[in-house]
Amino acid sequence: MSPAAAATPILKASHLLGIEGLSVGEITALLDLGDEYVALGRAKEKKSPLLKGRTVINLFFEASTRTQSSFELAGKRLGADVMNMSVRTSSVSKGETLIDTATTLNAMRPDILIVRHQDSGAAEMLARKLDCCVVNAGDGSHEHPTQALLDALTIRRRRRSFEELTVAICGDVAHSRVARSNIHLLSKMGARVRLVAPRTLLPADAARFGVEIFTDMREGLKGVDIVMMLRLQTERMTGAFIPSMREYFRFWGLDREKLAYAKPGALVMHPGPMNRGVEIDSAVADDIEVSLIHEQVEMGVAIRMAVLDALSRGLAQQGRNTP
Ligand code: ASP
Repeated sequence: MSPAAAATPILKASHLLGIEGLSVGEITALLDLGDEYVALGRAKEKKSPLLKGRTVINLFFEASTRTQSSFELAGKRLGADVMNMSVRTSSVSKGETLIDTATTLNAMRPDILIVRHQDSGAAEMLARKLDCCVVNAGDGSHEHPTQALLDALTIRRRRRSFEELTVAICGDVAHSRVARSNIHLLSKMGARVRLVAPRTLLPADAARFGVEIFTDMREGLKGVDIVMMLRLQTERMTGAFIPSMREYFRFWGLDREKLAYAKPGALVMHPGPMNRGVEIDSAVADDIEVSLIHEQVEMGVAIRMAVLDALSRGLAQQGRNTP
């Protein structure tokens, strides 16, 4: 990455809290940078010294495999010191509040704090209180911006133009921050978005998104280019939303028979972790001709490098702790 390129600002804000507040230009610039980091990740020498001297803290109050490890790898590949805060062994388990934990970490003068929390709005609240840049790595059922960006990068590398695409976001939309961030991003970029879900798993305000809504999976999949499956998020459910897992799979699980309703050559995505045999059949998930699931993981590292890079440009511009 050339020093000149590193100087060009990408984000107007000094945090990444959601897709809703991003412009098409900001999203496109992040995706372009993501492409450069895909190339770096595929090279033998995967490191860049861009964040040398910077400190990145991962603060995850909810379980994570892909997001936490890819932020860690992204920070390390950019030369930052990365600390993973394990909530289970920290004072959070003794009852320390989110804000106390975060202000304690803030006193250690990190440059970037990556936070995942079960409450919608948690990242935004921290961004208002802390000195460092805050990245939302998932807040309740609100937003998961880096997931939508990595999904967009995955799609763009396969299909180029969003304007010609119809994307079906299927399953537990009501509890999904992935769905919300993707609805914002794909709509902004000009794709047609469909929500395909049982009535019980559609958000009460689904109509406000201005997307098409289908409550029959086969109807909803007709002619789509991309099928984006969502995990059934039982940990966020407070009551009975589905009759049984078996019934759910019968009506809403993506198998070859239902996928056949989509456009020939349609591609399948899933943010992970997958519930095999619940929202997706292994025969589809593991079919490398249609499934982009592993590609999504690779794009996750690249897009998180792009986000850290973009935020560090903001820090350098403000002259904050410039290394
Ligand atoms: N990993 C994604 C998230 O944190 C999707 C999921 O958990 O279902 O929201």
